[in-house]
Amino acid sequence: QKLVAYDPGHDLPRLRERFGDIIVELGSNENGWGTSPKAVEAVVKAARDSFRYPDPLGLGLRARLADKHDCSEEEIVLGNGSHELLMQLAQVFAEPGDEVIYSRYGFAVYPIGTRAVGATGIAVDPFPRDHAMPLGTDLSQIPKAITERTKIIFVANPNNPTGTHFRIEDLKALLQQVPKHIPVVVDEAYTEFANAEGLESAISLRREFANLVVSRTFSKAYGLAGLRVGYLVAHREVCELINRLRESFNVNLLGLAAAEAALDDHEHLARVREGVLTQRARIAEALTQLGFFVFPSQTNFLLVDFHRRAQPIEDALFERAVIVRPMVPYGLPNCLRITVGNPAETDRLIASLIEAKDAA
Ligand code: PMP
Repeated sequence: QKLVAYDPGHDLPRLRERFGDIIVELGSNENGWGTSPKAVEAVVKAARDSFRYPDPLGLGLRARLADKHDCSEEEIVLGNGSHELLMQLAQVFAEPGDEVIYSRYGFAVYPIGTRAVGATGIAVDPFPRDHAMPLGTDLSQIPKAITERTKIIFVANPNNPTGTHFRIEDLKALLQQVPKHIPVVVDEAYTEFANAEGLESAISLRREFANLVVSRTFSKAYGLAGLRVGYLVAHREVCELINRLRESFNVNLLGLAAAEAALDDHEHLARVREGVLTQRARIAEALTQLGFFVFPSQTNFLLVDFHRRAQPIEDALFERAVIVRPMVPYGLPNCLRITVGNPAETDRLIASLIEAKDAA
């Protein structure tokens, strides 16, 4: 992987200039069902107080999250998206000479955060292509990679960009083998889209393993990507370390208000979840019928292998204003990652792929 800085993909305002409103944005795993109306209402209301600083402790939201996860407020830290928190975890725990472990096809921010602090990334081998979780995180590789220089371990469940997942029993077995002084970060950005047996949140293991850190985000299922709110559930000492370097007002007034309101909007969350699961199955079936390999996904995106260089297909989709994510930076040039959008977006995606599939 040659990732040194996070590549946000594309420039939506410029794409809008070119394509207008017909654009189907399936490159960034955003929420095709939009922002919760309750969150929008809360933002509009909170906007009147924009002359004030936000609550630097985010007490209202942290109390709600503590309640949701049956933990104390001291075990929650809020971030400007979970991206910020992942970078801060690397900053807090690793420095030059240290090692950070993640899966070869893990989320790009793990190697980026590692390099940003001058530490060395150790990318463990994923499951092979013919496994039930092709290229997914093989947790059994991690203990073998641990050395006295290992300072932090990052895994995502389910994983981006593969969409694959692991079972909580396997995570528990890993945690039993990892020395207690090494934090294990389980990134659950996509957890709300999971429906596989055995895929449970790691939060339930928190009391048993003090070195477990779980990250979550409001960007995906809650549809607040633009407002930047994420959080960690971790031991209070880990939270305290992050708080030492956290900018006091890292989550703004609108983000705090929106996240609290979104937590209350069970209806919207249920609609999004049900919609993603339905459209995910529909896209997977259509693309499999077209002869492509679709990786098993527990997320709101699908990794697709076109069995040949995917760039011409990506370009042909682009000409039809359908934006997907190239996987060249991940070393998977035959693959594209496609967000699961709403039914109308899925219609456009499938129709465009049928036209684009033979592009050379
Ligand atoms: N973790 C994973 C696995 C992700 O895919 C993403 C977003 N692409 C994030 C974390 C960061 O999301 P955010 O900063 O919006 O919370």
